[in-house]
Amino acid sequence: MEPKDSAVSRRSALTKGIAAAAGGVAFAQAQSTRVVSGRKFRGWVSRGTGPGRTTLQELTLRPISGRQIVVRTEATNLCYSNSSAVLGLPEPGFGPPPAPAGYKAAPRPTSPAFLEMSRMALIQGHGGVGIVEAVGPEVRRVQVGDRVCVSGTPQCGSCYQCLRGRADMCQFLGRQGPKDLVPIADMRDGTPVYANSHIGGLAELMVTFEEWVVPIFTKAPSVDLEMVCSCVAVAGLGCTASQVLADVQLASTVAVVGCGPLGLSAIQGARIAGASRIIAIDPIRVRRELALKVGATDVLDPNVEGRNLVEKVRELSSGPNNRLWAGGRDSGGLLGGAGADFVVEAVGADRAKPKLEAGPDPTGILPLEQAYMMCAPGGHIVTTSLPSGNLTLPAVVFTIGGRTHHAGQYGGANPMRDIPRFVELLDRGQFDSKSLATTLVPIDGMLDAYQQVIERTTVTAIMTA
Ligand SMILES: [Zn+2]
Ligand SMILES: [Zn+2]
Repeated sequence: MEPKDSAVSRRSALTKGIAAAAGGVAFAQAQSTRVVSGRKFRGWVSRGTGPGRTTLQELTLRPISGRQIVVRTEATNLCYSNSSAVLGLPEPGFGPPPAPAGYKAAPRPTSPAFLEMSRMALIQGHGGVGIVEAVGPEVRRVQVGDRVCVSGTPQCGSCYQCLRGRADMCQFLGRQGPKDLVPIADMRDGTPVYANSHIGGLAELMVTFEEWVVPIFTKAPSVDLEMVCSCVAVAGLGCTASQVLADVQLASTVAVVGCGPLGLSAIQGARIAGASRIIAIDPIRVRRELALKVGATDVLDPNVEGRNLVEKVRELSSGPNNRLWAGGRDSGGLLGGAGADFVVEAVGADRAKPKLEAGPDPTGILPLEQAYMMCAPGGHIVTTSLPSGNLTLPAVVFTIGGRTHHAGQYGGANPMRDIPRFVELLDRGQFDSKSLATTLVPIDGMLDAYQQVIERTTVTAIMTA
């Protein structure tokens, strides 16, 4: 029995929606599902193997449903780790070692899942910024017209990892195999097209799911915005400010090994967090110069320092006081006290031979070992890279050396919490996007720009659509 004068009658709630019945309380947002299917757009489609696998195609958008969102791309970054898939390079350059017995191996270039993915027509790309054009009926997080970041890492908010504060490990991230993807468009010949990682940034439209989308409220220019929202910058800033890995402390010493866009973002994060000494390490001269420009206090060339690199960082980290009883770092004794309080490792394996100065180890293993060893006892190391091979460390340093290691998927960033914070850093002039976005291209210049990325002749290439 419903009272006739009830402010929110049951029937009214059912027929008009709770929000309307309650007098406009935005509990259930009325979402426009503007008809977008059949729309033509251009996208870079990757299929097959080897160079030439990625071509610019005219595509026809399919209808969306459920939690899907269509975003008109403003800008997207060309991530180094996506280069093998785009350019048809060996994946990865040196091949990962086989998984130890008892462990499930990641998809390898010869695995059935990998081969099936390489036969599918996929739009690559690790995210981007843009404007929401259409939303499925179940979407709550954004509305048509919103400016959004399509994040490189999803955040569902309800999986085991998200519930425990590790949104960077959201289990939706693992749902990107051939059986998980859904066709979003068709090629002229009717071939279904999928969005890699449910993102597909290398196109004029991104069709993604709510879990990947973060609304951002800013008038920042699209290239600057994409730089700070890129997978690499979010990971770099996350390393220093994610709250779930290792927050950089005031007046601390931070070493950043590798000054690509991720490392250069970590340097900026360390500066903003108030680190007093920031040691940037990279073989490429222009990247060391850029590191100084965005916040490093010292730079080191690993090719010049060679095996002394770790010792050099310990020296730079020692500070003015080395006296045991006066609060000094006391670099003597079994484990010593010198080293960086925080280390961010961001090198990884080369996927192609660099045209600028190559580092001392193309597999990325030596810089990783050095990064671990240059961390002070009691310090934190965040690793972010994709190296190739096995790691060898002095076991006693690993077991009781006091270093805390954080495996920093996305730098530990929580997309919905952290990306708006990082955009705030851009809007307030604390994060320098312009110095990091060194190549800007329209959509048809994407392949040339990616060539610069893998040759390391640019720091970050950004495609505008
Ligand atoms: Zn990426
Ligand atoms: Zn989740």
